[in-house]
Amino acid sequence: MATNADAPLAINTLDRLDVGNRRVFVRVDFNVPLKDGQVRDDTRIQATLPTLRKLQERGARLILGSHLGRPDGAPDPKFSMEPVGARLAELLGCEVRLPDEVVGDGVTKLVHDTRAGQIVLLENLRWHPGETRNDPAFAQALASLCDAYVNDAFGASHRAHASIVGVPGLVADKAAGLLLQAEVEALGRVIHNSEHPFVTVVGGAKVSDKLPVLLAILERLRPGDSILIGGAMANTFLAASGVEVGSSLFEPDRFADCKNLLTRAGARDVRVLLPTDLRVGVGTKATSARVIQVESGALGEDEMALDIGPASAARFRAAILGAKLVFWNGPMGLFENSVFAEGTLAVAKAVADCGGYTVVGGGDSVAALQDSGVADKIDHVSTGGGASLEMIESGGSLPGIDVLRTNRSA
Ligand code: ADP
Ligand code: MG
Repeated sequence: MATNADAPLAINTLDRLDVGNRRVFVRVDFNVPLKDGQVRDDTRIQATLPTLRKLQERGARLILGSHLGRPDGAPDPKFSMEPVGARLAELLGCEVRLPDEVVGDGVTKLVHDTRAGQIVLLENLRWHPGETRNDPAFAQALASLCDAYVNDAFGASHRAHASIVGVPGLVADKAAGLLLQAEVEALGRVIHNSEHPFVTVVGGAKVSDKLPVLLAILERLRPGDSILIGGAMANTFLAASGVEVGSSLFEPDRFADCKNLLTRAGARDVRVLLPTDLRVGVGTKATSARVIQVESGALGEDEMALDIGPASAARFRAAILGAKLVFWNGPMGLFENSVFAEGTLAVAKAVADCGGYTVVGGGDSVAALQDSGVADKIDHVSTGGGASLEMIESGGSLPGIDVLRTNRSA
C-alpha cells in the first residue's frame, strides 16, 4: 500500500465528512476540451464521478464549481459550463441545474431550493475576477453557499485560487475527494520512493521545466536507481558534453545545471542514461528520419534530433523492466509527428510491461500514453501535469492539499 500514512501527509478523507442533507461544495476539474460547443473529451468529468456518486448516495446537496479555459475574469459565453453540465447530466443520469452566474442572488436562491441528491453546477469560476486573485469577498461568497467543502480538482491544486485555498480556509468541514486522494497516494509513493530500483524517465521540451523535479527526486535516490533522459531535454545534456546537435532544440544556458545533475547522480551511484542513438530529421514536419549513433555520427547543420533511436529505446526498456517503481514524465521525442513517435511508444510499452508500481504524469505524456493504447496497464495516470510535478518537487505539499490536512494549525 501507499507509504504516505506518515502524519505530515494525512489529509481529511471523504468517508469522515458529514454530508447527509448538507450543502457540499465540490471543487471539480471540468476544464475539458470543447469543440463546436460540445465536450470533445470527457475524461476529466468521468474521473470525478465516483466522488459525486458517493456524495449523492449519502444525501448531499451538491454545488459544483470549476474553471474552464481562460476567460478574462468576466462572463464569456465561449467558456460557459453549459455543455459540461449537459454531459454531466447524461453521465450521472440526473438533473444538473445551471445558474447563469458564478455567485449572486440567483445562485443563492437556486442552492437554497436544492434538495438531497440534486446538483447545481456554478458558472465558470474564472468568469469572476476574484477566482485567480483569491479575493476574500469572492471566497466568502462561495463559502456562504455551503456547509462542507470537498476538493476533487487535483489538476488545479497547485494554484492558490479562491476555490482551491480561499473557500476551504473559511469552511470547517472539508475533505479530499476520491480522485484527489488517489493522486496523493500514488504521488506519495514516488515522493517517498521506498521501492527500489526506482527508475525515473524524463523527456519533453525543456530542461528548465523539469530540472527542479529531477533534483528533488535525485535527493532520495539510492545506488542502483536510474534516471533515463530523452526528448529535447536529452539534447541539452548531450550538447553540454560536447556533442554537436545541429539545429536541435536545446538550452545552452542550462549546460552547467546538466553537468551539476550528472555529478550529483554520480556521487550517489545513480545511473543516468542518455540516448546513445538518435532519430534525426530536417525540421519538425520532416516526413522521413535517419538514425545516427551519438558516438560516431554527426547531425547536419539543418538536422534536428527529434526522437531517441532504437538502441536507446531498447536500453531504456531493459532499465524500466527491472524497476520496482517507475515515474515517467515527458515524451522521448516529437511524438505528435508519427515519424518521431517510436521512442515514446516504446517507453510507454515498457512502462506498461513493468511488473513494478508505475506512475505517469504530464499532459503530453498522458496524451502519448493514450495513443499507445496501453494506458490501462499503468498503475496510476495522473490527471494533473503541472500539479504532479510541483507536488513531487515540494515533497508532497500543494496549496490546495495543505489546506485539507488534519493536523494543520487552524
Ligand atoms: P508533458 O506535458 O508530458 O510534461 P512537456 O510539455 O514537457 O511534456 O513536453 C512535451 C513536448 O516536448 C511535446 O510537444 C514534444 O513534441 C516535445 N518534444 C519532445 N522531444 C522533442 C525533441 N527532441 N525536439 C522537439 N520537441 C520535442
Ligand atoms: Mg506539456
